[in-house]
Amino acid sequence: MRAIQVNRNGGPEVLEPVEVNTPVPGEHDLLVRTEAIGINYIDTYFRTGTYSRPLPYIPGDEGSGTVEAVGSAVTNFSIGDRVAWAAAPGSYAEFVCVPAAVAVSVPEEVSAPVAASALLQGMTAHYLARSTYPIQQGDTILVHAGAGGVGLLLTQMAVTLGARVVTTVSTDAKETLSRQAGAHEVLRYDDDIPSRVRALTDGEGAAAVYDGVGASTFDASLASTRIRGTVALFGAASGAVPPLDPQRLNSGGSLFLTRPSLVHHIRTRDELEWRAGEVFGALADGSLTLRVGAEYPLAQAQTAHRDLEGRATTGSIVLVP
Ligand code: NDP
Repeated sequence: MRAIQVNRNGGPEVLEPVEVNTPVPGEHDLLVRTEAIGINYIDTYFRTGTYSRPLPYIPGDEGSGTVEAVGSAVTNFSIGDRVAWAAAPGSYAEFVCVPAAVAVSVPEEVSAPVAASALLQGMTAHYLARSTYPIQQGDTILVHAGAGGVGLLLTQMAVTLGARVVTTVSTDAKETLSRQAGAHEVLRYDDDIPSRVRALTDGEGAAAVYDGVGASTFDASLASTRIRGTVALFGAASGAVPPLDPQRLNSGGSLFLTRPSLVHHIRTRDELEWRAGEVFGALADGSLTLRVGAEYPLAQAQTAHRDLEGRATTGSIVLVP
Protein backbone atom coordinates (compact mmCIF):
# COMPACT_ATOMS: atom_id res chain seq x y z
CA MET A 1 0.00 0.00 0.00
CA ARG A 2 0.99 3.63 -0.32
CA ALA A 3 1.82 5.47 2.87
CA ILE A 4 3.85 8.32 4.30
CA GLN A 5 6.81 7.40 6.48
CA VAL A 6 9.04 9.37 8.84
CA ASN A 7 12.56 7.92 9.12
CA ARG A 8 14.12 10.84 11.02
CA ASN A 9 12.77 13.86 12.86
CA GLY A 10 12.83 17.18 11.06
CA GLY A 11 10.92 19.56 8.82
CA PRO A 12 8.11 18.66 6.40
CA GLU A 13 10.71 17.13 4.04
CA VAL A 14 10.99 14.05 6.30
CA LEU A 15 7.44 13.00 5.29
CA GLU A 16 8.38 10.47 2.59
CA PRO A 17 5.91 8.71 0.28
CA VAL A 18 6.66 4.96 0.45
CA GLU A 19 5.25 1.55 -0.54
CA VAL A 20 4.88 -0.75 2.48
CA ASN A 21 3.03 -3.95 3.31
CA THR A 22 -0.65 -3.59 4.12
CA PRO A 23 -1.01 -4.06 7.90
CA VAL A 24 -2.60 -7.23 9.27
CA PRO A 25 -5.37 -6.60 11.82
CA GLY A 26 -5.10 -8.14 15.29
CA GLU A 27 -8.07 -9.92 16.82
CA HIS A 28 -9.47 -6.68 18.30
CA ASP A 29 -8.80 -4.54 15.20
CA LEU A 30 -10.56 -3.38 12.07
CA LEU A 31 -8.65 -3.16 8.81
CA VAL A 32 -9.93 0.05 7.23
CA ARG A 33 -9.44 1.38 3.71
CA THR A 34 -9.00 5.11 4.33
CA GLU A 35 -11.11 7.60 2.39
CA ALA A 36 -9.74 10.71 4.10
CA ILE A 37 -7.02 11.25 6.69
CA GLY A 38 -7.15 13.98 9.33
CA ILE A 39 -4.10 16.23 9.65
CA ASN A 40 -3.60 17.68 13.10
CA TYR A 41 -1.12 20.05 14.63
CA ILE A 42 0.10 17.27 16.90
CA ASP A 43 1.37 15.47 13.78
CA THR A 44 3.95 18.27 13.44
CA TYR A 45 5.07 17.88 17.08
CA PHE A 46 5.75 14.15 16.47
CA ARG A 47 7.45 14.91 13.14
CA THR A 48 9.89 17.43 14.66
CA GLY A 49 10.54 15.27 17.73
CA THR A 50 8.93 17.71 20.19
CA TYR A 51 6.82 14.68 21.15
CA SER A 52 8.60 11.35 20.73
CA ARG A 53 7.47 8.37 18.66
CA PRO A 54 9.88 5.52 17.82
CA LEU A 55 11.35 5.78 14.29
CA PRO A 56 10.53 4.88 11.62
CA TYR A 57 6.80 5.42 11.80
CA ILE A 58 3.78 6.18 9.64
CA PRO A 59 2.29 9.47 10.97
CA GLY A 60 -1.30 10.37 11.71
CA ASP A 61 -3.86 9.12 14.21
CA GLU A 62 -7.11 10.16 12.58
CA GLY A 63 -9.20 9.34 9.55
CA SER A 64 -12.34 7.88 8.07
CA GLY A 65 -12.95 4.99 5.73
CA THR A 66 -14.63 1.65 5.10
CA VAL A 67 -14.06 -1.55 7.05
CA GLU A 68 -12.37 -4.19 4.83
CA ALA A 69 -11.77 -6.89 7.46
CA VAL A 70 -12.50 -7.43 11.15
CA GLY A 71 -10.46 -9.25 13.80
CA SER A 72 -11.90 -12.45 15.26
CA ALA A 73 -12.82 -10.82 18.60
CA VAL A 74 -14.64 -7.82 17.08
CA THR A 75 -18.41 -7.94 17.54
CA ASN A 76 -19.56 -4.34 17.07
CA PHE A 77 -18.41 -3.61 13.48
CA SER A 78 -18.78 -5.45 10.16
CA ILE A 79 -17.17 -5.37 6.73
CA GLY A 80 -18.50 -2.40 4.75
CA ASP A 81 -19.21 -0.16 7.78
CA ARG A 82 -18.19 3.50 7.52
CA VAL A 83 -16.03 4.39 10.50
CA ALA A 84 -13.88 7.21 11.82
CA TRP A 85 -11.20 7.31 14.51
CA ALA A 86 -8.93 9.75 16.30
CA ALA A 87 -6.45 7.36 17.91
CA ALA A 88 -5.05 4.88 15.39
CA PRO A 89 -1.32 5.47 14.79
CA GLY A 90 -0.25 5.01 11.17
CA SER A 91 -3.23 6.76 9.59
CA TYR A 92 -1.29 8.52 6.76
CA ALA A 93 -1.80 5.40 4.60
CA GLU A 94 -4.22 3.63 2.26
CA PHE A 95 -5.02 1.03 4.95
CA VAL A 96 -4.98 1.36 8.74
CA CYS A 97 -5.48 -1.08 11.59
CA VAL A 98 -7.97 0.66 13.84
CA PRO A 99 -8.62 -0.88 17.28
CA ALA A 100 -12.39 -1.48 17.42
CA ALA A 101 -12.31 0.21 20.85
CA VAL A 102 -11.51 3.59 19.24
CA ALA A 103 -13.63 3.29 16.08
CA VAL A 104 -16.90 5.21 15.77
CA SER A 105 -19.69 4.76 13.22
CA VAL A 106 -20.14 7.65 10.78
CA PRO A 107 -23.69 8.92 10.09
CA GLU A 108 -24.57 8.74 6.39
CA GLU A 109 -25.11 12.54 6.25
CA VAL A 110 -21.43 13.13 7.10
CA SER A 111 -18.92 13.03 4.22
CA ALA A 112 -15.61 11.19 4.46
CA PRO A 113 -13.44 14.36 4.62
CA VAL A 114 -15.64 15.88 7.34
CA ALA A 115 -15.67 12.59 9.27
CA ALA A 116 -11.88 12.42 9.03
CA SER A 117 -11.56 15.81 10.73
CA ALA A 118 -14.46 15.66 13.13
CA LEU A 119 -13.26 13.48 15.95
CA LEU A 120 -9.88 14.80 17.08
CA GLN A 121 -10.65 18.50 16.71
CA GLY A 122 -14.38 18.14 17.38
CA MET A 123 -14.03 16.10 20.57
CA THR A 124 -11.30 18.51 21.70
CA ALA A 125 -13.65 21.45 21.22
CA HIS A 126 -16.33 19.42 23.02
CA TYR A 127 -14.27 18.66 26.12
CA LEU A 128 -12.91 22.21 26.28
CA ALA A 129 -16.41 23.72 26.14
CA ARG A 130 -18.23 21.10 28.23
CA SER A 131 -15.69 19.70 30.68
CA THR A 132 -12.51 21.78 31.09
CA TYR A 133 -14.52 24.92 31.73
CA PRO A 134 -18.24 24.18 31.28
CA ILE A 135 -19.38 27.27 29.41
CA GLN A 136 -22.39 29.05 30.93
CA GLN A 137 -25.03 31.16 29.23
CA GLY A 138 -23.79 34.78 29.15
CA ASP A 139 -20.10 34.01 29.61
CA THR A 140 -17.54 35.88 27.57
CA ILE A 141 -14.75 33.56 26.44
CA LEU A 142 -11.58 34.08 24.42
CA VAL A 143 -10.49 31.55 21.76
CA HIS A 144 -7.10 31.97 20.11
CA ALA A 145 -6.60 30.91 16.47
CA GLY A 146 -10.33 31.32 15.91
CA ALA A 147 -10.22 30.29 12.23
CA GLY A 148 -8.27 27.07 12.84
CA GLY A 149 -9.61 23.55 13.00
CA VAL A 150 -10.35 23.54 16.73
CA GLY A 151 -11.07 27.27 16.76
CA LEU A 152 -14.01 27.22 14.33
CA LEU A 153 -15.61 24.24 16.08
CA LEU A 154 -15.08 25.58 19.61
CA THR A 155 -16.51 28.97 18.61
CA GLN A 156 -19.70 27.36 17.29
CA MET A 157 -20.13 25.13 20.34
CA ALA A 158 -19.57 28.07 22.70
CA VAL A 159 -22.14 30.19 20.86
CA THR A 160 -24.63 27.32 21.07
CA LEU A 161 -24.03 27.23 24.84
CA GLY A 162 -24.87 30.94 25.03
CA ALA A 163 -21.41 32.48 25.24
CA ARG A 164 -20.14 35.67 23.73
CA VAL A 165 -17.00 34.60 21.88
CA VAL A 166 -13.93 36.74 21.29
CA THR A 167 -11.30 35.26 18.97
CA THR A 168 -7.85 36.08 17.64
CA VAL A 169 -6.80 35.56 14.00
CA SER A 170 -3.95 36.73 11.75
CA THR A 171 -5.72 37.86 8.55
CA ASP A 172 -8.89 39.50 7.24
CA ALA A 173 -9.89 36.27 5.48
CA LYS A 174 -9.60 34.37 8.77
CA GLU A 175 -11.60 37.10 10.53
CA THR A 176 -14.44 36.58 8.05
CA LEU A 177 -14.47 32.83 8.74
CA SER A 178 -14.33 33.34 12.48
CA ARG A 179 -17.29 35.75 12.36
CA GLN A 180 -19.23 33.28 10.18
CA ALA A 181 -18.67 30.70 12.93
CA GLY A 182 -20.33 33.11 15.38
CA ALA A 183 -17.47 35.10 16.92
CA HIS A 184 -18.77 38.37 18.32
CA GLU A 185 -15.41 40.15 18.37
CA VAL A 186 -12.34 39.20 16.36
CA LEU A 187 -8.95 40.56 17.44
CA ARG A 188 -5.46 40.49 15.94
CA TYR A 189 -2.52 39.13 17.93
CA ASP A 190 -0.86 42.55 18.05
CA ASP A 191 -3.94 44.19 19.55
CA ASP A 192 -3.83 44.88 23.30
CA ILE A 193 -5.86 41.71 23.85
CA PRO A 194 -6.35 41.99 27.66
CA SER A 195 -7.54 45.60 27.35
CA ARG A 196 -9.92 44.71 24.54
CA VAL A 197 -11.37 41.77 26.47
CA ARG A 198 -11.74 43.83 29.65
CA ALA A 199 -13.41 46.65 27.70
CA LEU A 200 -16.00 44.12 26.51
CA THR A 201 -16.64 42.75 30.03
CA ASP A 202 -16.97 45.84 32.25
CA GLY A 203 -13.35 45.36 33.29
CA GLU A 204 -13.91 41.79 34.52
CA GLY A 205 -12.12 39.70 31.87
CA ALA A 206 -13.05 36.43 30.18
CA ALA A 207 -14.59 33.56 32.11
CA ALA A 208 -12.28 31.21 30.22
CA VAL A 209 -9.47 31.56 27.75
CA TYR A 210 -8.82 28.67 25.36
CA ASP A 211 -5.23 28.95 24.16
CA GLY A 212 -3.89 26.52 21.56
CA VAL A 213 -1.27 28.98 20.31
CA GLY A 214 0.97 28.88 23.39
CA ALA A 215 4.23 30.83 23.62
CA SER A 216 3.15 33.98 21.79
CA THR A 217 -0.29 34.35 23.39
CA PHE A 218 0.04 32.90 26.88
CA ASP A 219 0.84 36.13 28.76
CA ALA A 220 -2.14 37.85 27.13
CA SER A 221 -4.28 34.83 28.01
CA LEU A 222 -3.47 35.11 31.72
CA ALA A 223 -4.03 38.87 31.64
CA SER A 224 -7.40 38.49 29.87
CA THR A 225 -8.95 36.09 32.39
CA ARG A 226 -11.37 37.21 35.08
CA ILE A 227 -10.86 36.56 38.79
CA ARG A 228 -11.20 32.79 39.40
CA GLY A 229 -11.43 32.23 35.65
CA THR A 230 -9.91 29.33 33.72
CA VAL A 231 -6.98 29.34 31.33
CA ALA A 232 -7.01 26.18 29.21
CA LEU A 233 -3.61 25.95 27.53
CA PHE A 234 -4.33 23.15 25.08
CA GLY A 235 -1.61 23.53 22.47
CA ALA A 236 1.57 25.19 21.35
CA ALA A 237 1.25 26.15 17.67
CA SER A 238 3.67 29.06 18.24
CA GLY A 239 5.97 27.12 20.59
CA ALA A 240 5.98 25.87 24.17
CA VAL A 241 5.17 28.16 27.10
CA PRO A 242 8.21 28.56 29.40
CA PRO A 243 8.09 27.38 33.03
CA LEU A 244 5.68 29.40 35.14
CA ASP A 245 5.83 30.76 38.70
CA PRO A 246 2.53 29.67 40.36
CA GLN A 247 2.41 33.06 42.07
CA ARG A 248 1.32 34.50 38.71
CA LEU A 249 -1.95 32.60 39.08
CA ASN A 250 -2.47 34.30 42.44
CA SER A 251 -1.71 37.82 41.24
CA GLY A 252 -3.77 37.18 38.12
CA GLY A 253 -6.85 36.63 40.31
CA SER A 254 -6.79 33.09 41.78
CA LEU A 255 -6.78 31.71 38.24
CA PHE A 256 -7.19 28.06 37.27
CA LEU A 257 -4.61 26.92 34.73
CA THR A 258 -4.86 23.54 33.03
CA ARG A 259 -2.92 21.84 30.22
CA PRO A 260 -5.49 19.28 29.02
CA SER A 261 -5.28 16.45 26.46
CA LEU A 262 -8.01 14.71 24.49
CA VAL A 263 -6.77 11.28 25.54
CA HIS A 264 -7.77 12.00 29.15
CA HIS A 265 -11.28 12.98 28.04
CA ILE A 266 -12.15 9.81 26.09
CA ARG A 267 -10.90 7.27 28.59
CA THR A 268 -13.93 5.00 28.46
CA ARG A 269 -16.04 3.79 25.57
CA ASP A 270 -19.01 5.64 27.13
CA GLU A 271 -17.15 8.94 27.17
CA LEU A 272 -15.87 8.44 23.60
CA GLU A 273 -19.38 7.64 22.37
CA TRP A 274 -20.87 10.62 24.23
CA ARG A 275 -18.46 13.15 22.74
CA ALA A 276 -18.29 11.57 19.26
CA GLY A 277 -22.08 11.12 19.26
CA GLU A 278 -22.69 14.79 20.06
CA VAL A 279 -20.18 15.96 17.45
CA PHE A 280 -21.47 13.67 14.69
CA GLY A 281 -25.08 14.32 15.70
CA ALA A 282 -24.60 18.08 15.39
CA LEU A 283 -22.81 17.68 12.04
CA ALA A 284 -25.57 15.40 10.77
CA ASP A 285 -28.41 17.75 11.77
CA GLY A 286 -26.58 20.83 10.50
CA SER A 287 -26.27 22.61 13.86
CA LEU A 288 -22.47 22.35 13.60
CA THR A 289 -20.47 23.06 10.45
CA LEU A 290 -17.00 21.69 9.88
CA ARG A 291 -14.94 23.51 7.28
CA VAL A 292 -12.51 21.31 5.38
CA GLY A 293 -10.25 24.12 4.21
CA ALA A 294 -8.08 21.97 1.94
CA GLU A 295 -7.73 18.40 0.68
CA TYR A 296 -4.23 17.23 -0.33
CA PRO A 297 -3.27 14.02 -2.15
CA LEU A 298 -1.57 11.62 0.28
CA ALA A 299 1.75 12.05 -1.53
CA GLN A 300 1.62 15.81 -0.82
CA ALA A 301 1.78 15.48 2.97
CA GLN A 302 4.86 17.72 2.96
CA THR A 303 2.89 20.58 1.40
CA ALA A 304 0.08 20.08 3.87
CA HIS A 305 2.44 20.32 6.86
CA ARG A 306 4.15 23.39 5.37
CA ASP A 307 0.79 25.10 4.95
CA LEU A 308 -0.35 24.18 8.47
CA GLU A 309 2.83 25.41 10.15
CA GLY A 310 2.92 28.44 7.83
CA ARG A 311 -0.53 29.56 9.07
CA ALA A 312 -1.83 29.23 5.51
CA THR A 313 -4.72 26.87 6.36
CA THR A 314 -8.23 27.53 7.60
CA GLY A 315 -10.49 25.08 9.38
CA SER A 316 -9.50 21.42 9.13
CA ILE A 317 -7.29 19.87 6.45
CA VAL A 318 -7.16 16.30 5.18
CA LEU A 319 -5.10 13.96 3.03
CA VAL A 320 -6.87 11.91 0.39
CA PRO A 321 -5.30 8.54 -0.51
P1 NDP B 1 -5.07 25.10 13.59
O1 NDP B 1 -5.89 24.82 12.41
O2 NDP B 1 -5.65 25.96 14.66
O3 NDP B 1 -3.68 25.69 13.11
C1 NDP B 1 -2.87 26.42 13.97
C2 NDP B 1 -3.21 27.93 13.93
O4 NDP B 1 -2.53 28.53 15.00
C3 NDP B 1 -2.72 28.62 12.68
O5 NDP B 1 -3.57 28.51 11.56
C4 NDP B 1 -2.58 30.05 13.17
O6 NDP B 1 -3.80 30.76 12.99
C5 NDP B 1 -2.34 29.88 14.68
N1 NDP B 1 -0.98 30.31 15.04
C6 NDP B 1 -0.67 31.37 15.81
N2 NDP B 1 0.64 31.50 15.91
C7 NDP B 1 1.20 30.54 15.16
C8 NDP B 1 2.55 30.20 14.85
N3 NDP B 1 3.58 30.89 15.33
N4 NDP B 1 2.77 29.15 14.04
C9 NDP B 1 1.76 28.43 13.55
N5 NDP B 1 0.45 28.71 13.81
C10 NDP B 1 0.16 29.76 14.61
O7 NDP B 1 -4.59 23.73 14.23
P2 NDP B 1 -5.46 22.65 15.04
O8 NDP B 1 -6.88 23.06 15.07
O9 NDP B 1 -5.09 21.32 14.53
O10 NDP B 1 -4.85 22.76 16.49
C11 NDP B 1 -4.91 23.98 17.21
C12 NDP B 1 -4.13 23.80 18.50
O11 NDP B 1 -4.82 22.88 19.31
C13 NDP B 1 -2.72 23.23 18.30
O12 NDP B 1 -1.86 23.86 19.21
C14 NDP B 1 -2.90 21.78 18.67
O13 NDP B 1 -1.71 21.19 19.13
C15 NDP B 1 -3.94 21.89 19.76
N6 NDP B 1 -4.71 20.68 20.00
C16 NDP B 1 -4.70 20.18 21.27
C17 NDP B 1 -5.45 19.10 21.59
C18 NDP B 1 -5.50 18.65 23.01
O14 NDP B 1 -6.29 17.77 23.37
N7 NDP B 1 -4.70 19.23 23.88
C19 NDP B 1 -6.18 18.33 20.56
C20 NDP B 1 -6.20 18.99 19.27
C21 NDP B 1 -5.45 20.10 19.00
P3 NDP B 1 -3.67 32.36 12.75
O15 NDP B 1 -3.03 32.51 11.40
O16 NDP B 1 -5.05 32.90 12.82
O17 NDP B 1 -2.82 32.84 13.86
